[in-house]
Amino acid sequence: PSSSLFPSPATNRLARFHFRLRTMASHIVGYPRMGPKRELKFSLESFWDGKSSAEELQKVAADLRSSIWKQMADAGIKYIPSNTFSYYDQVLDTTAMVGAVPPRYGWNGGEIGFDVYFSMARGNASVPAKEMTKWFDTNYHYIVPELGPDVKFSYASHKAVNEFKEAKALGIESIPVLVGPVSYLLLSKPAKGIEKSFSLLSLVENILPVYKEVVAELKSAGASWIQFDEPTLVMDLESHKLQAFTHAYSELESSLSGLNVVIETYFADVPVEAYKTLIALKGVTGFGFDLVRGTRTLDLIKSGFPSGKHLFAGVVDGRNIWANDLAASLNTLQALEGIVGKEKIVVSTSCSLLHTAVDLVYETKLDKEIKSWLAFAAQKVDEVNALANALSGQKDEAFFSANAAAHASRKSSPRVTNEAVQKAAAALMGSDHRRATNVSARLDAQRKKLNLPILPTTTLGSFPQTMELRKVRREYKARKISEDEYVKAIEEEINKVVKLQEELDIDVLVHGEPERNDMVEYFGEQLSGFAFTVNGWVQSYGSRCVKPPIIYGDVSRPEAMTVFWSSMAQSMTSRPMKGMLTGPVTILNWSFVRNDQPRFETCYQIALAIKNEVEDLEKAGINVIQIDEAALREGLPLRKSEQAFYLDWAVHSFRITNCGVKDTSQIHTHMCYSNFNDIIRSIIDMDADVISIENSRSDEKLLSVFREGVKYGAGIGPGVYDIHSPRIPSTEEIADRVNKMLAVLESNILWVNPDCGLKTRKYGEVKPALSNMVAAAKLLRTQL
Ligand code: GLN
Ligand code: ZN
Repeated sequence: PSSSLFPSPATNRLARFHFRLRTMASHIVGYPRMGPKRELKFSLESFWDGKSSAEELQKVAADLRSSIWKQMADAGIKYIPSNTFSYYDQVLDTTAMVGAVPPRYGWNGGEIGFDVYFSMARGNASVPAKEMTKWFDTNYHYIVPELGPDVKFSYASHKAVNEFKEAKALGIESIPVLVGPVSYLLLSKPAKGIEKSFSLLSLVENILPVYKEVVAELKSAGASWIQFDEPTLVMDLESHKLQAFTHAYSELESSLSGLNVVIETYFADVPVEAYKTLIALKGVTGFGFDLVRGTRTLDLIKSGFPSGKHLFAGVVDGRNIWANDLAASLNTLQALEGIVGKEKIVVSTSCSLLHTAVDLVYETKLDKEIKSWLAFAAQKVDEVNALANALSGQKDEAFFSANAAAHASRKSSPRVTNEAVQKAAAALMGSDHRRATNVSARLDAQRKKLNLPILPTTTLGSFPQTMELRKVRREYKARKISEDEYVKAIEEEINKVVKLQEELDIDVLVHGEPERNDMVEYFGEQLSGFAFTVNGWVQSYGSRCVKPPIIYGDVSRPEAMTVFWSSMAQSMTSRPMKGMLTGPVTILNWSFVRNDQPRFETCYQIALAIKNEVEDLEKAGINVIQIDEAALREGLPLRKSEQAFYLDWAVHSFRITNCGVKDTSQIHTHMCYSNFNDIIRSIIDMDADVISIENSRSDEKLLSVFREGVKYGAGIGPGVYDIHSPRIPSTEEIADRVNKMLAVLESNILWVNPDCGLKTRKYGEVKPALSNMVAAAKLLRTQL
């Protein structure tokens, strides 16, 4: 039975919230959904496993929403968002709202319930899930709408209205948040079978009637404000796309009359042309800007802001965990107030707080001083409120001075600054670092040294992580087993993995990474300048969360991190053993980074630490070293004008790690994506000897990239089978795949390896799959 996505409002519950005169203009763009202890995650997973009912899930969700609303109301926030909760994703919620369900999910009309909704999100027994992609440059992933000319939009989920009513029943006048119609279309893709050239924006006429219905219902439910999130406005949009905004909002104007409307932008500043379009939109009363990442936003506003409109000034960072510099923000706000007027300025967050951790209160293990420097979502709500109060002349002196003291301590703390590291990193800038010999000469030297066959086989690092393995690590961490016992257990595991690879006759071995739970955390824990939270989770997609380390200080490497295990593994075999490291850019992009120095400075510091590790591995006799850069693409700035600079320092950081090794030492890198047509020049410029990449779904695209590869002549290992699936590929299938690659690539640069690490697979899958992979390579060698 399909239960409605949203329970009817709890009208029977009395509004028990304590009221305060809320005259200060404060606003929160959006709030994390998972709960301070990931309550929603556990409730969702239990529901999906059939262990609890839809009602139980709805109850957990309703409790989370009401506690969030109550917290914001108690803090004194004036514009409290509703409909920023989601059971999976706000873009999928919008798809449900407009009834754009692809036919394969078997929806027969009516209000969309959990069954159809979660089928789209996660797939079901007969249909796979819809595609998911990254939400701008965050680590959040949204479910991509699939639209074609025949899509019949209809109002099919009343979630936004229900949530508004639910808040109202609790005594909260909320501001309902919708993904704006134009961004929704721009974030969609043409449905299967529809030509790529299909104009998604041609659907604007068809989708607006649903938005009008939603708006009308919100109005009659008593809404006085409504928020449309239109973050695509920060991208480099062509003028016809900008015109779609003008068109859509003038179409909506009459429906919106009587309502206050704020258009939210975030993640960057709005380009000048888009700014002009935005502030001229009809029917709109306020505009929200990211004043943290939008470095030029201030100038834009100074250059002209429409009189009588509200400015939602996003000064509190929704993407990071640092306490706001309240004094500096207050200055900014006062300057803005001078432009837009006292009545029209609203203090806000830079974007939804979805992208930061939930509540610092639950960090019981964090060092006290470091903790005083931080603010998670709950604390950011208080910051927004304190700023709004201060702006209206009711400054909470104690709050401001505690904040100033924390900032002073962060600035002067010896645990933040390491002068030697700063000097070394500063010395790197402006000069180039690369290996002295070109890649083809290096490959020749390496061929002699390593004596590998043509089409060499290897894997990407991790082997299956069994329950026992996780238990051993956990017990060692909790000091339940001794260091000796731990080393012995890991040594046994490595030995098992080495023997298995020898039996399989793989050419370049790995140790299997049994000592690591996470490829960033493992290094962060051994580097100085990193701190770790207990509950600092951030939603990545659906119920999945990540817990990024916090880089708070200059990064250095007190001692070797991987040499012990790698040389142990090398001693077990006469075949080359790959040293396995995470690259600086990936460590940076998967952490909460410092905001008191540019990202590139932090990255150079990490690069120096990894460089030391690379050189220690080389000294210890490790001749092949893989430096993973899984997240290099992820850090690419949204705006084209900023991309070259990022790629320049990111690639430079990678080269720094290995510019000092001998020609005979072979540097590999691995990336978990293959769609890098647009950054291929930079990939080449990384100057690795061998690159392995994911290649499960996009052969075609990849081949065009490979043509470039031929030119630069480095080794390349496109994944020959998909490790994300339990399916075991046959020898024939793999051979066929490699043959296709050989059609465009020279055989002497091609490597044969899976798509990615094998951590999440079972031995029952890994053994036959790798055995078939080696068989395919051997078969092809005889044919070359
Ligand atoms: N070496 C890592 C592993 O095999 C690579 C994983 C990744 O790039 N995500 O687990
Ligand atoms: Zn990978």
